[in-house]
Amino acid sequence: MNQKTLRKLFKEMGFVRTGGSKEEKECALKIVSYLDKLGLKAKLESFKIPDAKVLEGRLLVDNKEIKCCGYRLAKDATISAPLYYLANWDDGSLSQVRGKIVLFTGYLNRSRYEELTKHGAVGFISTNGTLIDEDRDVDDRELRPSVAKDLEILPGVNINIKDAMKIINGAFKNATITLRQEKIEVTSHNVVCKLKGESEEEIILSAHYDSVPLSIGIYDNLSGTLGILGILEKFLDTKHHYTLTFLFCGSEERGLLGSKAYVKKHQKELDKVRLNINLDMIGTSLGNAIAVCTSDQKLVHFVEYLALIKGYPLKASQGVYSSDSTPFADSGVPALSLARIAPLDSLIIHNRHDQMKYMSMEKMKEDIRFAYELTKIMANAKYLPVQKEIPQNMKEEIDHYFHRSKPNK
Ligand SMILES: [Zn+2]
Repeated sequence: MNQKTLRKLFKEMGFVRTGGSKEEKECALKIVSYLDKLGLKAKLESFKIPDAKVLEGRLLVDNKEIKCCGYRLAKDATISAPLYYLANWDDGSLSQVRGKIVLFTGYLNRSRYEELTKHGAVGFISTNGTLIDEDRDVDDRELRPSVAKDLEILPGVNINIKDAMKIINGAFKNATITLRQEKIEVTSHNVVCKLKGESEEEIILSAHYDSVPLSIGIYDNLSGTLGILGILEKFLDTKHHYTLTFLFCGSEERGLLGSKAYVKKHQKELDKVRLNINLDMIGTSLGNAIAVCTSDQKLVHFVEYLALIKGYPLKASQGVYSSDSTPFADSGVPALSLARIAPLDSLIIHNRHDQMKYMSMEKMKEDIRFAYELTKIMANAKYLPVQKEIPQNMKEEIDHYFHRSKPNK
């Protein structure tokens, strides 16, 4: 894939495409039609996601209206309570939240939500954004079923962090959250395309193509999407031993839902899957390449050696990467994620700053080239030495990642 084509595809698919939206499907169809032009048949595999349309989401702090987004799938309510700013998640601070609406900065995750419900909070306010940005964007968030599972459902809203600071600087007392929504179900899609090899055993290359609501998702993760398309093109006219499955995942940003749906639907065929190579965020101008292997250490060393041999600077490690490689590893398939991590990563993803100006088509090509070299070696191995077993320490890390257990402190 040359630089011109890369730029063209970034432009054509660079729009907000959240999991389950019609824009996400539009992007899926663009991938299908690109593959069609290459003479390949791709399949759309759909899966359902519970969702909600927020009809009313309001936040009043001492009767002053604050711009907010109501959490989808949170509890419908009109609730007034004392407002508490939770600056720390320590036991002392948490002992203060009972009966209160709790304001905290940043994301809501499973362990935070567990603490809030356990300590008797009656509502929550999270934030997005940075203090130094000009914008006052407010992210549209959901109370994910995986976050709220088996816990009390609370009403909640999200606000911009600059408004949070304003609230905290004022002599705030009470907050009122009003949330009203209509429960719906939306459909998201995975795009699957196979290049048959001599063997039925497969290597799966994956990348998610959805974005979060505030972002056109150039770096996260059209880059990886075009990355695996670029790899696919290099295999078009060559024979290879293992079958290569190219999986374009939907709804990764909503909790790895596409890859989870894939491993569930194809559970019986997973014993034929030998390896997953996932691309999530490549091709930025600044930043260092990494490989995170949810596998035994031997694969880490192999990737590291290959990178050195190819003159491609890369840091390889054993670990769990928060992307579509993890549901594969969780299903017993050794998986590795390749990425180029921007130095200001927290600032240019999941917001309006995820733009072409931070990308380099040179770097895109380098990253695709290395991912291809790795895939080529694996796809033509006489014997694929990667152990089809996830080591105990990785199993534990996956359990922590999915909040099925807590790390030892
Ligand atoms: Zn991503």
